[in-house]
Amino acid sequence: MVSGPSGVGKSTALAELAKQPGVQVVISFTTRARRDNETEDVDYHFVDEREFTDMVRRQEFLEWVEYDGHFYGTPHRAVDEILERGGVAVLEIEREGAMAVKERFTHAVLVLLKPPFPGELERRLRSRGASSEFLSRRLALAERDAPLMDDLYDEFVTSTRTNETVRELRRIIQSRYSPR
Ligand code: 5GP
Repeated sequence: MVSGPSGVGKSTALAELAKQPGVQVVISFTTRARRDNETEDVDYHFVDEREFTDMVRRQEFLEWVEYDGHFYGTPHRAVDEILERGGVAVLEIEREGAMAVKERFTHAVLVLLKPPFPGELERRLRSRGASSEFLSRRLALAERDAPLMDDLYDEFVTSTRTNETVRELRRIIQSRYSPR
């Protein structure tokens, strides 16, 4: 499972990582609006609140949370299918969800991506065209979560250049699992 503050480069790194055979990134469901640079069913499955709550009721999520005013959930079936094939399932997930998954899959590895220096998250979010309200909400959440995460995570990766981040993630996967 990979967590990290908004703007740290999780999605870019995971899109690259997913090119490795045997490694699959699980596509979450969310009720937040699609951003211009995002593709339906690639970045997320975008659903409305009614669809999401129906899925919660049908127990289709391995875990789900409300984060920054929207719902996010990991579909159970997608994870099961990857594991049944002997693959490595990679989840991009925030702290609470990561904790919930760890309780059920105790061998799961929690990886935290960290910004290379303070100020970098803000720069990256701005370059993505984030509004100032979005920016301050997400930076506040990052500040809230950071001190809670250091003790919980198994591996820490400083997110510098994408190819270096991906190399580190590959190394972690190789050392912890042996994907077929
Ligand atoms: P964003 O809106 O920036 O795409 O994602 C907000 C946060 O939700 C990020 O920290 C991301 O890792 C997390 N997230 C994305 N999908 C899921 C999910 O299925 N479950 C949980 N718990 N968090 C998720």
